Amino acid sequence: MNLTDMVRSFAAERIRPAAEDLDATERFPAEIYQGMGELGLFGITVPEADGGSGGTVADYVTVMEELSYGYASIADQCGLVELVGSLLARFGTAEQKKTYLPDLLAGTKRCAYALTEPQAGSDLGALSTRARRDGDGWLLTGEKIYIHNAPVADFAMVLAVTDPEKRKRGGMSMFLVDTALPGVTRAYHEKKMGQRASQVGGFVFDEVRLPAHALLGEEGAGFGAVMSVLEKGRLGIAALANGISRAALDTAREHARSRRQFGKPIAEFQAVAFSLADMATDHAAARELIRHGADLLDGDADAGATCSMAKLFASEASIRTTSRAVQILGGAGFIRGVEAERLYRDARITTIYEGTSEVQRLIISRSLL
Ligand SMILES: Cc1cc2nc3c(=O)[nH]c(=O)nc-3n(C[C@H](O)[C@H](O)[C@H](O)COP(=O)(O)OP(=O)(O)OC[C@H]3O[C@@H](n4cnc5c(N)ncnc54)[C@H](O)[C@@H]3O)c2cc1C
Repeated sequence: MNLTDMVRSFAAERIRPAAEDLDATERFPAEIYQGMGELGLFGITVPEADGGSGGTVADYVTVMEELSYGYASIADQCGLVELVGSLLARFGTAEQKKTYLPDLLAGTKRCAYALTEPQAGSDLGALSTRARRDGDGWLLTGEKIYIHNAPVADFAMVLAVTDPEKRKRGGMSMFLVDTALPGVTRAYHEKKMGQRASQVGGFVFDEVRLPAHALLGEEGAGFGAVMSVLEKGRLGIAALANGISRAALDTAREHARSRRQFGKPIAEFQAVAFSLADMATDHAAARELIRHGADLLDGDADAGATCSMAKLFASEASIRTTSRAVQILGGAGFIRGVEAERLYRDARITTIYEGTSEVQRLIISRSLL
């Protein structure tokens, strides 16, 4: 079985049937997470030598769309492990890899990727979480908010300021922080509009004593490390958004064929059929942009603006397609427990996290001017 078929059947058998319950209960999907580890869906592009699948970015975006077609919160977990796993593989010492990668990729350890702070969202240069040298280790103090998996993570990759003079230009470093360490508090668990099975919350670090080997990569190289996985991360979220669009198209098409009004299926009204046509066009166009971005990244070509275009287009398209699906479902589209209603909520965050639409437009316009 090829990769697409394997993930598609995993999504059909394990994810889609659980999505409604996961949305309602907002619980961490532990059994599906474990299953993803067993299937090798964590660390798609992480080299085989580091325990990953050694796949391409094109493989990764395929997996993300298929998982998200099942339920976006599940794809989020794949995306998170992909980023953290890629950074560990690229910048980790042999010891750090041995400590974290096998369990992370097997789905027996959970990670978080902690950048955002109360005063630093789009503007990461404004971070104030501070790591100071303490003997041969570090003392970490600060607060992170809106962090995926903060309530359930075994460890977090945390970006902190190590030199306030230099900040983004050599003054930020990445640390591997075990969440059981004294001084680490999981601040709260957010109640969200959508993607409700994704566990999102905050961390407070109060003089957390970190060993010297908690530093990932060189001191001062943290911001560059974040940038090195940004484009892949954005393509992953674009593919996640496009999985939501495909699910919206399928549920709307099914309803349009079966629902009868004025003596015929509503699909026979041109207004409804054209709306489906626009949904399909949005999905297909987003997929081409995402694939183009993946091909550029796989070929080590300059992919920045293309990945931003893919993220911008696919995420905004997912808001259009899910809104159309709700409209085609009529009153049913507004009722909890109906897939279109959930997809509409799940899509909304995709234009915000992993860089807002406005940030993507900044990047694209800079590449033009
Ligand atoms: C469910 C969820 C999960 C998340 N997961 C994580 C995670 O795992 N790890 C993590 O570190 N973060 C995470 N985040 C944080 C997310 O990345 C940020 O919310 C996002 O980057 C936007 O930052 P902000 O919320 O501070 O908004 P702000 O940066 O305050 O932006 C507010 C508005 O101003 C606009 N804006 C800002 N600057 C400009 C500009 N220069 N030009 C034009 N418009 C501008 C923005 O586009 C936006 O519309 C998550 C957030 C959510 C809600």
